[in-house]
Amino acid sequence: MNIVIFGPPGAGKGTQSNLIVKKFNLHQLSTGELLRKEIKDQTKLGQQISSTIDEGDLVSDQIAGDLIEKYISNKIYKSRLIFDGYPRNLNQARNLNNLLSKYDQKIDIVLKLSVSLEIIKKRINERQTLEKRTDDNELTAIKRYETYENKIKPVVDFYKQSNLLKVVNGENSITEISNEISDLIDGLKG
Ligand code: AMP
Repeated sequence: MNIVIFGPPGAGKGTQSNLIVKKFNLHQLSTGELLRKEIKDQTKLGQQISSTIDEGDLVSDQIAGDLIEKYISNKIYKSRLIFDGYPRNLNQARNLNNLLSKYDQKIDIVLKLSVSLEIIKKRINERQTLEKRTDDNELTAIKRYETYENKIKPVVDFYKQSNLLKVVNGENSITEISNEISDLIDGLKG
């Protein structure tokens, strides 16, 4: 099965994806992490995108699409992917459908973690002391939240239309959220 998980930055997508990966033997595909790795490794792409990421803007659809195609086309990951951070806009949502059907796959469920900006700010401040992400400060957090909110609405409608969307309250505890997600995924098999 392939899963899409989305929610504003700081919603806990990464944490929840990790838990799902272990429980259901999937592979996590985090475009944010892949992009940060490019920057850390100082690749040509990394140099090209570092200021975009630091400012809280999205990298181009072409760059993000190329990254995910590498995984979708790889047989090892066939129908075992959890997309964390992709799609971020309607164009990417359409591209994901096209890429999956190109490689004879589909999305089985779309999980949306909903969290208010107030809670996000609190979490980002906490995360700042744990991880050193150059895009984790309050101003960038607000910018990333707003970028997310503006672009994600059409994506939500897109997945609602295809009956794949499940909204999960991302303000609950990690365990509560993960139990709810597990139940939803288990429900797909029944
Ligand atoms: P994330 O770790 O998902 O919060 O992503 C961190 C940053 O990486 C975002 O603020 C964007 O700049 C960039 N990014 C991640 N995924 C995408 C995507 N699908 N499309 C464009 N930019 C992305």
